[in-house]
Amino acid sequence: MFTDSHCHLENKRFDSDRADVFARANDAGVTTMLAIGNGDGPGTGTLDCAIKLAQQHDSVYSTVGIHPHEAALAQQSDFDELERLGRDPKVIAWGEIGLDYFYDHSPRDVQQRVFVQQMEMARAAKLPIVIHNRPSDNSENAWEDLFRLLREHWASSGLCGVLHCFTGNVDHAQAALDLGFMISFAAAMAPLDRIFIETDSPYLSPIPHRGKRNEPAFVVEAARQIGELRGLSREEVGQQTTANFYRFFTLTAPKS
Ligand SMILES: [Zn+2]
Ligand SMILES: [Zn+2]
Repeated sequence: MFTDSHCHLENKRFDSDRADVFARANDAGVTTMLAIGNGDGPGTGTLDCAIKLAQQHDSVYSTVGIHPHEAALAQQSDFDELERLGRDPKVIAWGEIGLDYFYDHSPRDVQQRVFVQQMEMARAAKLPIVIHNRPSDNSENAWEDLFRLLREHWASSGLCGVLHCFTGNVDHAQAALDLGFMISFAAAMAPLDRIFIETDSPYLSPIPHRGKRNEPAFVVEAARQIGELRGLSREEVGQQTTANFYRFFTLTAPKS
């Protein structure tokens, strides 16, 4: 069994065949998915998009949050709505939140402020956070700011989090592990019990699906690649990362 720890199932690119996407995930042994609930951002009426999917599918859990790309659009009414949505029983994390200095769709000071505010809300809701972090080219800038903000505003919560789509170096991975974070999916140095696998679908298709729309069934390919690096079968990686997911989020594992 496999767990896709990060996918955007509400995305318009799934509108025409979402039922088939779930069926293919099921056929591939993907028993659990974490639907990321950013939607189209504040002011679009979509902050509950992942909750709706989670309510329809036992295999789907959800997050809520405002992505750094859309931080500049956030109003107090959006934070009020998120506070309410965060109490839904299918919501198991707050995210994806963080910093993106590569695209700079929102000013960096605004990204930081909205990130800090959501850490405070996640702490109040007792939810772990899912982090999106991307520095500008050939720079450490977003990593430096991320770890400073995590140490100032999150470390004392005792709640941990997940670094999604990890692209940092060994030092960044170690800093995240030291903060109790899970890494998805990680440098070879991360212990096997500290990693998740994900597709970030519909974005970023893995080889051999490059160029196609990504979907949760392809998380099996991520398991195969990690298994190759670590001398494990894709099934062993699937079992271990699924066990990690259920342990980390203190969920009851599905019957295999
Ligand atoms: Zn992301
Ligand atoms: Zn994502």
